[in-house]
Amino acid sequence: MLLQPRFVAIILALLIAIATASFCSMIPATPKETVFITFLVAATSSFLLIYFTIEFLIFKELSKINAVFEKLKKKDFKKARLSSEFNMNPMKKLNNEITLFATLKQKEIEDLKKMEIYRREFIADMSHELKTPIFAAQGYIHTLMDGALDDPEVNQRFLKKAAKSLDGLDELVQDLLVLSELETGSVKMKKEPTDLHLLVAEVFDQLEKKASKRNVVLLSERNVEKPVVAEVDKGKLFQVLRNLIENGIKYGNEDGFVKVTLESDKEWVEVSVTDDGPGIPEEDQKRIFERFYRVEKSRSKDKGGSGLGLAITKQILDAHKSKIQLISKPGNGSTFSFRLLKKKQEKLP
Ligand code: ADP
Repeated sequence: MLLQPRFVAIILALLIAIATASFCSMIPATPKETVFITFLVAATSSFLLIYFTIEFLIFKELSKINAVFEKLKKKDFKKARLSSEFNMNPMKKLNNEITLFATLKQKEIEDLKKMEIYRREFIADMSHELKTPIFAAQGYIHTLMDGALDDPEVNQRFLKKAAKSLDGLDELVQDLLVLSELETGSVKMKKEPTDLHLLVAEVFDQLEKKASKRNVVLLSERNVEKPVVAEVDKGKLFQVLRNLIENGIKYGNEDGFVKVTLESDKEWVEVSVTDDGPGIPEEDQKRIFERFYRVEKSRSKDKGGSGLGLAITKQILDAHKSKIQLISKPGNGSTFSFRLLKKKQEKLP
């Protein structure tokens, strides 16, 4: 209200008119009517002059600047508020716009800084991860070239070790590709009604050998009469289950078990993968979904794995609008669980 152009113009016009009339009244023998008429003329002309100057020269320019800010905001942040303050004083509006714009820019700068730190850490981690298998394979191949090739005692063993390192490198690169595709959102989830018990059975088949090497029993309760069907990307969910069950086998106890449970109500099915292994310390629980994060660096590396399994798992579940939960107490095993939207049985293909 205070800075409305009309209000400002009235105040200034009155001041000018009072000053002019006072001067006029100081001239000897000036009739009162003349002083009054001078006051009226000065007040009216000053009001008109000041009002139009403010309205057309200053406020119009400010409105133009506001319009530019509106455009910038819409372009940059897409979710610009539609100006509910359309009739607001342009000065106040401009102030609001500048504050909002500066806040948004500040947030953008902070996000960029965080991303820059993340990018640097990622490059450092990735170089480290790539270096390990490359150096190992390089070492074996050079040793073979330097003469070990003719030594029947070691040549097969060194070749196998070099091949194993390169297989690890291949696995790492494949996982990185999958992760980056998931993160950029370039992979579309092809969701279809999928029988989860069947999917678990397929994963068990694939991991049977690995489990029996550590004497780990794979368990799941299945009611053949009652398939549990969820709307998921079958291939991607296979990968999720494979990662979690394989982790249970790798990091769980020898002679232990990995159990998959499916609990469903009308709308949802909760999938849990439980092992009876050493569990995950509380301070690591939040971080194990980060790329390359390992609880016990050297021991985990010995067990193979790119360190990307849980990061990929999290991304796939994100794309299914699901969130992975972990319950684990050191010494008492771990349970990873997530919820999926069910599909009615009659929609089974
Ligand atoms: P990787 O692909 O190397 O297995 P993941 O991303 O799948 O890596 O897992 C990250 C880390 O989390 C592992 O290195 C391991 O230290 C820990 N971890 C994952 N699952 C389990 C589990 N069931 N029990 C104990 N530790 C686990």
